[in-house]
Amino acid sequence: MNDDLNIEPNDPSGADFDKSLRPPDFSEFCGQEKVKERLMLMIEAAKQRGDALDHVLLSGPPGLGKTTLANILCRAFGTEMHITSGPQIEKAGDLAVILTNIQFGDFLFVDEIHRLHPAVEEYLYPAMEDFRLDIIIDQGPNARSICLTLPRFTLIGATTKAGMLTRPLLSRFGITNRLDYYQPEELVTIIKRSAQILNIEIKEDGALEIALRSRGTPRVANNLLRWVRDFAQVKADNIITKDVAVAALAMLEIDEDGLDEMDIRILETVIHKFAGGPVGVNSLAVAVGEDEATINEVYEPYLILKGFLKRTPRGRAALPLAYKKLGIEPPGNVQGELF
Ligand code: ADP
Repeated sequence: MNDDLNIEPNDPSGADFDKSLRPPDFSEFCGQEKVKERLMLMIEAAKQRGDALDHVLLSGPPGLGKTTLANILCRAFGTEMHITSGPQIEKAGDLAVILTNIQFGDFLFVDEIHRLHPAVEEYLYPAMEDFRLDIIIDQGPNARSICLTLPRFTLIGATTKAGMLTRPLLSRFGITNRLDYYQPEELVTIIKRSAQILNIEIKEDGALEIALRSRGTPRVANNLLRWVRDFAQVKADNIITKDVAVAALAMLEIDEDGLDEMDIRILETVIHKFAGGPVGVNSLAVAVGEDEATINEVYEPYLILKGFLKRTPRGRAALPLAYKKLGIEPPGNVQGELF
């Protein structure tokens, strides 16, 4: 999923960088305490029983740690993780290939599970519930159904849109874990850990400055840190202080609320082109020149969380804070909604 804050789109080292900063176990995974506690308990129970872990659903906006948690679970179990995504499994045969390679206790990580093809989903139900795969081989008069027995495995589903999962699929998961945006102090811990791995000195106020502009998202925090590190290396003796962070992030046009150029463009478009809204997300996407899914999953949730936009049945509408951000007096009817 290309949901990173786009700082260095052509940087080939991006993926490795992300990987090297991934916490390897629960002790280094900061925040999401309730989710962590539940998962740790599930692991202990499954290990005591000598059984595979129950299927787990992880939901939440991009960059909050769903893939990282899946990796941590798998490591804690000492089994192998097979990785795929909803859109990648086009037909039942694709699923059969994956599942027949699975060993007892292995993990199958399905990213964007809400995008699974409905026909594939049907095959997944018995696989998840009874560890059985009924597939049809051959075609026409020779077509016949065979039943494969599968070893017990754990399906980890990750989704940015739990609401789009069908009821039957949702009900196959033991528990749903929703990851929330991180608090600034949690991001400070994550940034300081990453800085240590990257071997760059960072002051507490420098880490806080980056945290406050990271949209509550560790992936964004790490991306910003990487940029600020480059800036500090070239312009500031390799030490990240508050002033260095402020100057570096100003160069990226990321403001003190963590809003970037696209966020501002979205607010400007709603206010100027659509008279403050409501405007449908498809019209908005066309007007700002961004993909509708990215607006839906990356930009909008944060703008709503921070009180710049609101969702109405007829579309997205600007709130007084959005006008304030752009230095405009909100019209009377908008102000009326605030008080
Ligand atoms: P998602 O799968 O939800 O999109 P990832 O698991 O890929 O998110 O996380 C993105 C990056 O953010 C990871 O590479 C990792 O370095 C970092 N990260 C996420 N959550 C945490 C956390 N709780 N503590 C430390 N780093 C984290």
